[in-house]
Amino acid sequence: MPVTLMAIAAHPGDALFTMGGAIAQHVEGGGRGVFVSLTLGEKGAPANITVDRYGEMQRVASLKAAKMLGAEFELLTYPDAEIPFKDQAALAVCDLVRQYKPEIVITHWGGSWHKDHQNCHLLVRDALFYSDLSAMNRKHPPHTVRKLFFADNWEDADNFKPDTYLDITNVADRWLKACDAYPMWRGQTGFFRYNDYYSSLAVMRGCLSGFGHAIALMSDPSGRVNRVETLL
Ligand SMILES: [Zn+2]
Repeated sequence: MPVTLMAIAAHPGDALFTMGGAIAQHVEGGGRGVFVSLTLGEKGAPANITVDRYGEMQRVASLKAAKMLGAEFELLTYPDAEIPFKDQAALAVCDLVRQYKPEIVITHWGGSWHKDHQNCHLLVRDALFYSDLSAMNRKHPPHTVRKLFFADNWEDADNFKPDTYLDITNVADRWLKACDAYPMWRGQTGFFRYNDYYSSLAVMRGCLSGFGHAIALMSDPSGRVNRVETLL
């Protein structure tokens, strides 16, 4: 059975731009990659495109991008900018975790100015707790996620302290091409040039870690206990 990596984001762009490099690298190594977005990111629509139409464009882009990376994409449809921090949403994420059984999960760091990103961070924490809880009866049996990481996102920079650098040199081109499926990637819908930022960031993180291109991740502070019998 291939090891599964699940990337859970508030918006589809966050999933591809900040977690897609790790998914691409994981699939390249023989693993299974699953993206989850809690919304379609539909309210990022520019003035000349309706919110509904833009949501559909985001859905099409997400499925195309995932296919380019050999991954899967689950799109939940909470309203963009209004992701509820409610047990019902945490349980919806819990159900996907139990269904796909990822060993590793990547999601947003909580130090974000964006309320959807903050809520996604909190919902994933609760979802992993519920998934592990054997007394929590759901459609699928309990599943324990072994590792939780937080992604390097320009909107989640408050106290983000990366400690893990993943070499994505071999898959960087493929990942960047997949990101280009999104209508916002080149700054077409707003001021932010995602392509310049995230392609440069991968080079900069590569400089710091001795790789050509790298993704920086922050491990869960509560999961940083090393159990060893000797310090050698
Ligand atoms: Zn976002």
